[in-house]
Amino acid sequence: MGGDEADLVREAFESNWIAPLGPQVDAFEAEFADVIGVPHSAALSSGTAALHLALLMLGVGPGDEVLCSDLTFAATAFAITYVGAVPVFVDSDPNTWNMDPALLAEELETATRRGRAPKAVIVVDLYGQSADWDPILEACGRYGVPVIEDAAEALGATYKGRPVGGFGRLGVFSFNGNKIITTSGGGMLVSHELGLVERARSLATQARDPAPHYEHSEIGYNYRMSNLLAAVGRGQLRVLVERVTARRRNFEAYREGLGNLLGLKFMPEAGYGRGNRWLTCLAIDPDRFGATREDVRLALEADDIEARPVWKPMHMQPVFAGCRVVGGKVSGGLFEKGLCLPSGSNLAREDLERVINLVQGIAKTDGKGPIRL
Ligand SMILES: *Cc1c(COP(=O)(O)O)cnc(C)c1O
Repeated sequence: MGGDEADLVREAFESNWIAPLGPQVDAFEAEFADVIGVPHSAALSSGTAALHLALLMLGVGPGDEVLCSDLTFAATAFAITYVGAVPVFVDSDPNTWNMDPALLAEELETATRRGRAPKAVIVVDLYGQSADWDPILEACGRYGVPVIEDAAEALGATYKGRPVGGFGRLGVFSFNGNKIITTSGGGMLVSHELGLVERARSLATQARDPAPHYEHSEIGYNYRMSNLLAAVGRGQLRVLVERVTARRRNFEAYREGLGNLLGLKFMPEAGYGRGNRWLTCLAIDPDRFGATREDVRLALEADDIEARPVWKPMHMQPVFAGCRVVGGKVSGGLFEKGLCLPSGSNLAREDLERVINLVQGIAKTDGKGPIRL
């Protein structure tokens, strides 16, 4: 927590708005929209709920195909199945680890030629780094396919100087406990189009028609954020810049300590933007480094340090067996070689040094120490 959260929660208590609506929710939505430069937003119970509503807003339904980043957390793809649609996974660009815009353009071209254009595209800003929006939006615009931006991991990151989240017709954020700021659990749906957000807000509140009694013409959901948690979110928003600085400082420490080790490569930062370095991720080439990703992970675990493999691509997940994938070698390779290092905003210099020393100790040596480039 930052410092203001407890006071804001007390304010919520004192106002007696203990409900999934109230002044804290309204204020959180307005302040959040301000930070990311998108005019309309709806505070929700999770990022997954925001994805579900985003797909509903675009009219995605049973049998539709939705193109989706292959390398992501499963929630991105799960939401597609909630509306009965079918995900088609698109591989990563090795230079950004995000969806490969050229592959996406190719797939849109072939699919359209076959008369089977996707109903929507969900593009993830992976591990806090923006996707390459210009070519993605150009390709999707050419075929008239709407885009959802899954910026759940990337709050505070920019693309060509603009904050992420507002590049698609709808954008999605998460405030789950592991994200860069948190409300313990929560999400936000944003859009430049007021109509989309108003309708999403209504569906998220059990789709009540304007009538004195309870009248429903549509299926609704209970997806709104609690007024108490919105108070936490407002406090967290005030420390977002600090959190990004802290995460980027983690990355810089790791890069100084490990960046020149043979066979070890950090997730590249694309020149078009500034990431929030939500997680510091790297890829380990076992032949050059002298140990596999798993060797490194297990060595850290033996010293009570949690590190995790990079997301297992969706096309390799048992639950999505049989789904189509465009490419898949890059994301597959990143899963095999990729490791996310401890990346919390509260890591001390000594914590980072413990990780650095352990990883250095596993690297191939030339008799004097680890081999450096
Ligand atoms: C965390 C995450 C989500 C889901 O958000 P929740 O708030 O946990 O439901 C969706 N997409 C990505 C890329 C995420 O990292």
